[in-house]
Amino acid sequence: MPTVTNPLQELLDGNRRWSAAMNAADPTFFEQLAKQQSPKYLWIGCSDSRVPATQIVDLPPGEIFVQRNVANVVAHSDLNCLSTIQFAVDVLKVEHIIIVGHYGCGGVQAVLDERRLGLVDNWLRHVGDVAEKHSSMLTALDLMSVRNARLCELNAIEQVTNTCRTTMVMDAWERGQSLSVHAWCYSLENGHMNDLGMHVDSRASLQPAYEAALQRLVRPAVVRP
Ligand SMILES: [Zn+2]
Repeated sequence: MPTVTNPLQELLDGNRRWSAAMNAADPTFFEQLAKQQSPKYLWIGCSDSRVPATQIVDLPPGEIFVQRNVANVVAHSDLNCLSTIQFAVDVLKVEHIIIVGHYGCGGVQAVLDERRLGLVDNWLRHVGDVAEKHSSMLTALDLMSVRNARLCELNAIEQVTNTCRTTMVMDAWERGQSLSVHAWCYSLENGHMNDLGMHVDSRASLQPAYEAALQRLVRPAVVRP
């Protein structure tokens, strides 16, 4: 009989090592976490393997509810993302929704290059719409890497707007629930998160926050990837 090796054995071994280390650090960790989750944050980020949610903000499991898709898009008809937002806001009562873009995003770059990748082109059309909306700002930038960075930032800002316009977020604000929506962009090059300065905590604050965030982009920011 040939020996069957599990191609995922490395991961399974890693899991046991990790759980043993967590248990050694805090013997009640899993017991406590198994009872319930009460995260304060909903993270809507890119599927990119280099941008894991809890790890890069130095938080343990249980602290962040996560939705990830290619290029961190919040589409008004995406039942998956909408359901995640609804569960996070209505059931878990998260206090913050963070849209996390990242510089050098391949999905964003495909839009800029007008590259055909397959079915995902239809999904990335949402990012294409963002690029078209801000085409004058983007075409003014000569370097492609800078253009990529700017579209990554613009995309995060626009997805905050989309998030704020969902019925779940609007209804939460309507009933006085404490909920803020934020835009971040992460640098793969140095591991630093760039707060894009868009913080929306009410229906009325959306438009001023959006305009202020765009203004901030036009000026060179202090932190650049
Ligand atoms: Zn990405």
